[in-house]
Amino acid sequence: MHQHWFLFFLLIAVNLTTCVLAEPAKDESALPLIDARADYEGAMADRVAYLVEQGEALSFDEVQSLISTNPALLMRPQSGVLANGLNSDAIWLVANVSNSTDGPILRRVSVGTGWLERVDFYFLTDRQLLQQFVSGDRIALEQRAIAKRIPSADYRFPPGETRLLLRVETADPMVVPLYFSSIAVSHSREQFEAIFFSFIYGVMFALSTYNLMLFAGFRKRRYLFYSLYTAIFVVVTASYNGIGMALLWPDAVRWQQWAPPLFMLCFVSSGLAFATSFLKTRVRRPGLHKVIKTIGVAYFTFFGICFALDKQGLALQLAFLVVPVFTVLMLYMGVSSWMGGNQSARYFMLGTLASVIGAFVTALTVAGVISYSQLGYYALDIGMVVDAILLMLALADLARKNKEARVTAERTAQVDLLTGLNNRRGFLSVAESLWSLATRKGSNVCVAMIDIDHFKSINDQYGHAVGDRVLKKIADELEKSRRKGDVLARWGGEEFTLLLPETDEAEALSVAERFRRNIEQLEVNDCGRTIRCTISVGIASRHAQHVTLEHAISRADEELYQAKVQGRNQISTGRTSDAASATQTLLLSSEH
Ligand code: GH3
Ligand code: MG
Ligand code: MG
Repeated sequence: MHQHWFLFFLLIAVNLTTCVLAEPAKDESALPLIDARADYEGAMADRVAYLVEQGEALSFDEVQSLISTNPALLMRPQSGVLANGLNSDAIWLVANVSNSTDGPILRRVSVGTGWLERVDFYFLTDRQLLQQFVSGDRIALEQRAIAKRIPSADYRFPPGETRLLLRVETADPMVVPLYFSSIAVSHSREQFEAIFFSFIYGVMFALSTYNLMLFAGFRKRRYLFYSLYTAIFVVVTASYNGIGMALLWPDAVRWQQWAPPLFMLCFVSSGLAFATSFLKTRVRRPGLHKVIKTIGVAYFTFFGICFALDKQGLALQLAFLVVPVFTVLMLYMGVSSWMGGNQSARYFMLGTLASVIGAFVTALTVAGVISYSQLGYYALDIGMVVDAILLMLALADLARKNKEARVTAERTAQVDLLTGLNNRRGFLSVAESLWSLATRKGSNVCVAMIDIDHFKSINDQYGHAVGDRVLKKIADELEKSRRKGDVLARWGGEEFTLLLPETDEAEALSVAERFRRNIEQLEVNDCGRTIRCTISVGIASRHAQHVTLEHAISRADEELYQAKVQGRNQISTGRTSDAASATQTLLLSSEH
């Protein structure tokens, strides 16, 4: 038992010690000390102390005396990245850098955030200011300490101790990932970032262009809005991470202040435009559509007022206020559309949600609401790539559905709906090529025209619906009786046609005879009544090289007429040339 108490007190003592150690620095000598030889790869703001200005801007001298009289003002960041949210007063970072070697050590000090307005670097030895640099996006690229997208300064730390002071000022979110490294490590970090941004921007550009092409092809506005949405994503991120200024507008200092809130407005608007057009909210959810429109108009109006009054900070706050609203709206639209049974919304909305949630997490991270992490910081970029991949899936899905629909349409265009047999188009598309083949090979081929006898009287007697059923039954029976390779079709009305490849007239006659007999024996029941039918058939063959399919069909039709004239329920076939069409009619009734 005693042992337990001992352990308990030991734990408390250990905890208290760590708490005391983590307390703000007590006096100037307790200022954090950085070894100049150290080459930190990651952000290391937790290795310096900081203090926040209280409204009034301080000079580096004032800061020096402040921390010597009241060192308790100094605080230590919790992680390598100091995040103090939106609307932060300027922040001073303070540390002593110790060089225990004989010669100077070159180090690059930088703050990895591209949107900070102004960063002042001070290097002092024995309270003497030895060097001062300035950077930040309110300074034209060429006038910065180093012409880079993020505020950076190089300094040769002499042997002994150097006081490092950094003043960071911004109207945007105060995010300070402090780096202290050799030039080589700084370069490799830049390289990694270059690859990361190239990948993200490459995917986004490809997607934007692809959607623009789809818009050009399909003329559907949702492709245009999605193209804009992805393109503006690139512009909005490039405007705040400093790439825009570094590459596109190196001197446009005032534009740099307005670009992020303006592009955020465009990003949100294009996102909503895409979602409303994709989900057809105007028609499906007119109430919601009105709400979205109102929010959009209000956002534009407020932004216009901010711009007119030159209140860039306010415009930014507005943008950060709208992002959560945007997120909730998109979430709601996505879920409600999905639940409303909009299947094609599946991938689109999952993708959009990924990007929107990413944007939300990033906004919260840079605003300091959730604690800083690389994942949180790049959540927007990651979300957009997930979005891109899901959209590719959506487009693949759409393409597959379109193809299926086209195949179905093509098939239905060639199939007779009542009987399920080929229709005239379907028949001709197959028969023409078989006919040409037979002509080329000089092989036998026959065409038969089949017509139901006195079908009108069946309609008259039993009604059209029963007539349809009888027609269907006869079609089924013909289909069953057909040989493999023969092409059967409904020619129109109660008439059928049959193409018999590799078949001479004698064989065609026996096939037709089987048809005739089968139909004759077919019984269709209708409410206890038995309906019987017969058919007449006319046959023509490709007896000469120059006979076309069309010609053969019309000859088969003539033969059919002969069969009708001769008394129906029989087959007629002519073996003579077209000029003298002596017709041989064969009477092949079942009685024989
Ligand atoms: P014949 O022996 O001379 O061929 O006499 P028939 O009555 O069969 O010939 P006719 O060409 O005078 O009439 C064909 C009938 O077939 C008329 C038409 O209403 C009917 N018919 C055509 N297509 C359909 C259909 O899709 N459904 C139904 N129920 N009847 C149809
Ligand atoms: Mg008929
Ligand atoms: Mg007819």
